[in-house]
Amino acid sequence: MLVTLAQISLGSSAGLSMGWAINVKLFNSIYYLGLGRLVTFSAILTIFDSFPYQRSSPAKTRSSHICYRRAGTLKTFSMKCKKFLSIPVLAVFLLMGFVYYITVFVFIEDWVGLQSSAGSLNALIFTFMASLCVFSFFVCVVTDPGHVPSSYAPDVEGTGGSDQESDKNGEQLKQCDKCHAFKPPRAHHCRVCGRCVLRMDHHCIWINNCVGFWNYKAFFTLVLYATIGSIYSTVMLISCAFQMDFTGRLALKVFYIFCGAPTVALSSTLATLLGWHVYLITHNMTTIEYYEGTRAAWLARKSGLNYRHPFDVSAYKNITSVLGSNMLKWFCPTAVSHLRDGINFPTSHDS
Ligand SMILES: [Zn+2]
Ligand SMILES: [Zn+2]
Repeated sequence: MLVTLAQISLGSSAGLSMGWAINVKLFNSIYYLGLGRLVTFSAILTIFDSFPYQRSSPAKTRSSHICYRRAGTLKTFSMKCKKFLSIPVLAVFLLMGFVYYITVFVFIEDWVGLQSSAGSLNALIFTFMASLCVFSFFVCVVTDPGHVPSSYAPDVEGTGGSDQESDKNGEQLKQCDKCHAFKPPRAHHCRVCGRCVLRMDHHCIWINNCVGFWNYKAFFTLVLYATIGSIYSTVMLISCAFQMDFTGRLALKVFYIFCGAPTVALSSTLATLLGWHVYLITHNMTTIEYYEGTRAAWLARKSGLNYRHPFDVSAYKNITSVLGSNMLKWFCPTAVSHLRDGINFPTSHDS
C-alpha cells in the first residue's frame, strides 16, 4: 500500500497538482489555526508572565497602580519585541521556516505523500516538534536571563565581615569593574548586554540575549527540540532520496543536495551542541565555568592538588537543579518554579 501511495505521491510531485494545493491548505490550517496559535498564545502569556515588577504594591491606589502596570507592561513589551529585530534572530526564523517547508512539503511529500496516513502522521509529528522548537526560541529571546539586584551584598559571615577574599563557602568574592558592584557566585559581566548576568553561560547572538539563570532551561530545550527536529528532517531526506530515481534528472539531484546539505550540517552541529550541554548540566557547569575550571585544574595539578568544580554536587542533583525535580516538566521551557534566586547555590562544601 505504501508503495502505491509513494508512486501516486511521486507522480503528483512532478507538478503542482490539485492534491498539492489541498495538502498546502490542510497543513497551513493545522499549523496556523491549531499549533501555531497555541505557540503564539503561549509566547504572549510568557511575555506577560515574566514581568516581576508589575505585581501589586499595597502602597499604591488601585487606579494609579493599574496605570503603572499598563505603562510598565507596554514599555517592557516593546523592549522584548525589539529583541526580535536582529539579523541573526530573523535568520533563525528563516532557517526554521526553510527546514519546516522542505521537510513537510518536499521530503515527506515525495516520500509517501501528505495525503497518505504515514505522510500525515509524520507531518503532524514534525509540526509538533517544530512548534515546541519555536516556543522554546520565543522563551529564550524574551526571558531576562537574570540581573544582579542592586541591594546585593556578599555574605561574608564567618570571615569576620572584613574585606576578605572569600565568603562563607570559601568562594572568591568578585567585584565587577564595569558595574562597580559585587558579583554573586557564578555571575559574570556581559559586554554585549552591558551588565552582570546571574549564572551566565554565554551571550548568544542567535537569540539576541544572554543565556543565564532564568533562560538556561529554555535554551537547553531549544537545542533539544532543534536537534530532534533536524535529525527527523535528515531521516525524511534519506528515506525520500533512497526511493527517488535521479537518473537523467540532474536538476532534481542538485535541488536535493541544496535542501539536504543544510539539514545534515544542522543535525551534526546541533547534536554536538546538545551533547556539550548535557555534559555541562550533569556536571553543574556553565560554559564559562568549564573554561575557568580547566585552567584551575591545570594550576592545581602543577601544585600537586586535585581540583573539583565547587557546584558539582552529584549527577542527579546537578540535573534537577537545572531541569527541576519533576521529570514531566523537564521538557517544558517555562517550568522554572524550582529555580531559587540565582545568587545562592548548593556547593560541595555544604555536604
Ligand atoms: Zn558587571
Ligand atoms: Zn549578554
